[in-house]
Amino acid sequence: MKDKTKLTIAGRPHHRPAHPVNMPVERASTYLFPTYDDYLEGAKNITYGRLGTSSHRAFEEAVNTLEGGFETRLAPSGLQACIASILAFVSAGDHVLMTDSAYDPTRKFCDNFLKRFGVETTYYDPIADEATMKSLMRPNTKVVFAESPGSLTFEVQDLPMLAAVAHAGGAKLVVDNTWGAGYFYKPIALGADVSVQAATKYLVGHADCLVGTLCSADEQTARKIYFALLQIGSNVSADDAYLALRGLRTLSARMERHQENAAELIKYLKKRPEVERIVYPTQKSCPGHAVWKRDFTGASGLFAVVLKPTPLPAIKAFFNALKLIGIGFSWGGFESLAIHSDPRPNRTATTWDEEGPLFRFHAGLEDVDDLKDDLERAFIAMTGANK
Ligand SMILES: *Cc1c(COP(=O)(O)O)cnc(C)c1O
Repeated sequence: MKDKTKLTIAGRPHHRPAHPVNMPVERASTYLFPTYDDYLEGAKNITYGRLGTSSHRAFEEAVNTLEGGFETRLAPSGLQACIASILAFVSAGDHVLMTDSAYDPTRKFCDNFLKRFGVETTYYDPIADEATMKSLMRPNTKVVFAESPGSLTFEVQDLPMLAAVAHAGGAKLVVDNTWGAGYFYKPIALGADVSVQAATKYLVGHADCLVGTLCSADEQTARKIYFALLQIGSNVSADDAYLALRGLRTLSARMERHQENAAELIKYLKKRPEVERIVYPTQKSCPGHAVWKRDFTGASGLFAVVLKPTPLPAIKAFFNALKLIGIGFSWGGFESLAIHSDPRPNRTATTWDEEGPLFRFHAGLEDVDDLKDDLERAFIAMTGANK
């Protein structure tokens, strides 16, 4: 079956002669076992709310089908999914290789928290070649962490190469797969051991709850992920698991539209004299563009634009003139967003040398002509402020 079909089927109830289309919200801390034998058996399946109810199992099953993994587990946020995917494999004295393009809070976890427990992190250039990656591996390297593409600067990483290097050194390859959402990108098939997502973004798709997913490639990896989540006391509400699964049902239609709208907006932006460069994997100028062509089946709605050098009052005028496109963090919802961001402070292995400001856009599901009008209005305001 193809993804579009799988997304409508996976994790649906099928246990009773007549049943609702969707798995109902099962809220529970305590489960009651009719007999002592059931209680003993219970440990193998659903036993206690924190370990997941049938609402959680349904969403996990659907994500697992989409990602093509052995087992998927949930975390209360995308960030905690990233964190647990590292904690599952490291001990004091170990070493992590982290992409320099990583989501900033993932980076802060390594610098501020892992370090306190004696785990060292080295940042690597997201497009480093095989020889460089091999030279960065140490005997105690337990995790190679990738984010492809980087969610601010969009470098596309060579996962099969990273997997080969990590595995040769006995390390796990973990990939933050939020941008491709498991729909345009399949890290497990490309050799990753764990594919994590901020389901908060495209899977939930409606900007109304936070959830993380961790999809493991094999049983041994899955057990480590499961115990890490268990031991840090992770819990996701059944309501949020339900919302996330409801969002996932329409993922295919939304992703296709996000892709179309992003492509249209980029066509418009490329013609603007204020724009220096589009930062998006479909562009030849994007580092890793050839890898994107090889490994992805599409591009999502998140991209960035580097402008020619622009003074702050003009940047402010641009954002304040936007009526439809919201100024806000996160992305992946039905609505369009824009932020002004500076990659410079979050780089140590590489440098970000663009002189002009970086604006990151999320192309939502609105009519693209209305979005273009909004941008046009903002650029006019920017020009006005520049005079
Ligand atoms: C948003 C995001 C996260 C964190 O997700 P939350 O649900 O906000 O904690 C992690 N990685 C990437 C790439 C993200 O964009």
